[in-house]
Amino acid sequence: MLDVVIVGAGPTGLWLAGELRLGGASVTILEARRNPDPNSKALTIHPRTVEIFDCRGVVEPFLKESLSIPNGHFGALPDRMDFSALDTPHPYTLALPQMRTEELLEERALAAGATILRDRKVVGLTSDGVELEDRTVVKARYVVGCDGVNSIVRQAAGIDFPGTESTTWGYLADVVLDEPPASGVAQIAGPTGGVMIVPLPGGIHRLVGSDPFDNRPERPTLETLRATVRRIAGSDFGMRDPVWLSRFGNATRQAASYRKGNVLVAGDAAHMHFPTGGVGMNVGIQDAHNLGWKLAAVATGRATADLLDTYHAERHPVGAELLQHTRAQTALMTAYSPEGQALRAVLSGLIATAPDMSKQLAERLSGLSVAYATGPRVPDHTLADGSRLFHRLRAGQYVETPVGLVRPDGHPAQAAVS
Ligand SMILES: Cc1cc2nc3c(=O)[nH]c(=O)nc-3n(C[C@H](O)[C@H](O)[C@H](O)COP(=O)(O)OP(=O)(O)OC[C@H]3O[C@@H](n4cnc5c(N)ncnc54)[C@H](O)[C@@H]3O)c2cc1C
Repeated sequence: MLDVVIVGAGPTGLWLAGELRLGGASVTILEARRNPDPNSKALTIHPRTVEIFDCRGVVEPFLKESLSIPNGHFGALPDRMDFSALDTPHPYTLALPQMRTEELLEERALAAGATILRDRKVVGLTSDGVELEDRTVVKARYVVGCDGVNSIVRQAAGIDFPGTESTTWGYLADVVLDEPPASGVAQIAGPTGGVMIVPLPGGIHRLVGSDPFDNRPERPTLETLRATVRRIAGSDFGMRDPVWLSRFGNATRQAASYRKGNVLVAGDAAHMHFPTGGVGMNVGIQDAHNLGWKLAAVATGRATADLLDTYHAERHPVGAELLQHTRAQTALMTAYSPEGQALRAVLSGLIATAPDMSKQLAERLSGLSVAYATGPRVPDHTLADGSRLFHRLRAGQYVETPVGLVRPDGHPAQAAVS
């Protein structure tokens, strides 16, 4: 019998598998897809996630392959928050297609000894594991649902997912642009809607935004998108040859409990929201970073099961704040009325002129301000033996520092698990 079976090989499940192996637990990921998803939802990797990769010694390819951006936006307001003053060795966001992020996380999980089985759709839970479509059972002491917003694990465990339905929809287009914006990037928002343009590898650009005149769940066509973008930006930038056209809604929900007995949920299986701010994948990886060392310690008999309750206690409030922030940003992005436009102008001006406000928003968005009862994550610093904390954390163990004992996930510890 396995220590842990993870359902879903998205970014959350892949990071969790690596963490569980680091903690000595046996783990298999069961993934429904035969092949990885070629369409990348996420592009943005925030500073705390970059730190987490650094704390496990896998940050280099991310730094090498990504576009580094020293600021971020809140609700597509024109004035952007400065990340360069954040107290971190990585004061920037990284832009990398989610598909590549997943490849790098998969490499790490496999190198650590995890097993990943594709074309294995889980249809339910059993008393000792999970059941696959072909009725075979994979036995494990613990099951973690990292299976996205429609999580079968969450549903089979009877974990409620309360929240609200979509009322607004954004559009997404990965296309070729014959006349891209001069700098390659653009962010335009006004009473007729919004569009953000960023370059992707392979000569493609991503256009993403909202349109009050075409606000519906159906997948857009190239023609409707041309009209949308022309209306908002005055040009369709010569868009052609779509690689991916999609819509996403603002349905907002959170799992009532992140743990039910031997079943846990993480990432999109635990929280869903409008993808403004580019944070969902980041929070999922950070859920996994909080859960991994705890579940490994419990599953291998080094800690009692009540340690797992701290996963819900610590991460559910972070998910609730994520939902509040993405709702606030959605309200700003879709504030098309004259009053809404005035609110956007006032807030944007404050971001530009009130350094405290800009810093607080940047700290929240970056994930650096997340604090549990024991405190916020301990920043990188030099230890008594001359080594750096982030390097010492690579072993996934507790680290003694001048400011006290630090847990494997980089937060202060109350007491070490033996
Ligand atoms: C347009 C858009 C842009 C976004 N941009 C960003 C961004 O810039 N930054 C950011 O942080 N986030 C962003 N997000 C959000 C991000 O993509 C998600 O939060 C992230 O994919 C969640 O990862 P996950 O591993 O929890 O779930 P998923 O990525 O959904 O992975 C779940 C996996 O489980 C598998 N699965 C599902 N059911 C089963 C089953 N029954 N059996 C076996 N396997 C199963 C699926 O096939 C899938 O591989 C964006 C989202 C959208 C829609």
